[in-house]
Amino acid sequence: MKPFTVRLHVYGDLDFFLPSRTPGGRVERHLSEKTSVKDVIESCGIPHPEVDVILVNGKAVDFACAITGDTEIELYPPGIQSSHFKEKRLQATAITEFVADGHLGKLVRDLRLLGIDVAYDSAAEDRQLVEIASTNNRALHTRDRRLLMHAAVKHGYYLRSQNPLEQTIEVLRRFELGSTLSPFSRCLRCNALLEPAEKEKVIGQLEPLTKIYYDEFRRCTGCSQVYWSGSHFTKLQKRLEQIRAKLGS
Ligand SMILES: [Zn+2]
Repeated sequence: MKPFTVRLHVYGDLDFFLPSRTPGGRVERHLSEKTSVKDVIESCGIPHPEVDVILVNGKAVDFACAITGDTEIELYPPGIQSSHFKEKRLQATAITEFVADGHLGKLVRDLRLLGIDVAYDSAAEDRQLVEIASTNNRALHTRDRRLLMHAAVKHGYYLRSQNPLEQTIEVLRRFELGSTLSPFSRCLRCNALLEPAEKEKVIGQLEPLTKIYYDEFRRCTGCSQVYWSGSHFTKLQKRLEQIRAKLGS
């Protein structure tokens, strides 16, 4: 096959994934064999779940599209171009279930505090994360680019920031979760939903002062952890306020 040239132009914040010296979000690749557009994109460092619309010579295509000659490729992240090419968007819009990789405990706590369903095990291995993401159709949160490039991962997000508060805001914006939040509805430890519990049913799990000062309780339907509006609650409310302020800014 005659060697050919592929020019990529990325939009939005997809240039985050390109080498820092890449000018104007443009990359050129020289190929000499038929290659899927997914492989071209990922060879430039961009994980496929970050790409919502691909235009090949101006025409919207999916990841399997084969590139065999000189080509102009345009890449758009979710959020822009969503009104154009509606039928050619590659990322699902209404994802509400997630799995997070093992280094993201603080992000997971924030998201669960907001009522968002996030599967998490700090000891999970990569293959387990991929399996949970693919079989349960959960979007994967990670800072491991290679992991996000795994063919079995359909939806996911590479966290740009290393700061948990900023990561939380990134996830809320990327998956448009702002209107679906339900704070204090989910267990921070195990992700199961909470339900109201009568005091007499949980009294055996309470400290002496808690028994005296509190009357309203919630219990986790998964691990039976009991929650009430004690001092930890004030801390969590402060965290919620921080998240809301940052989200609104
Ligand atoms: Zn629980």
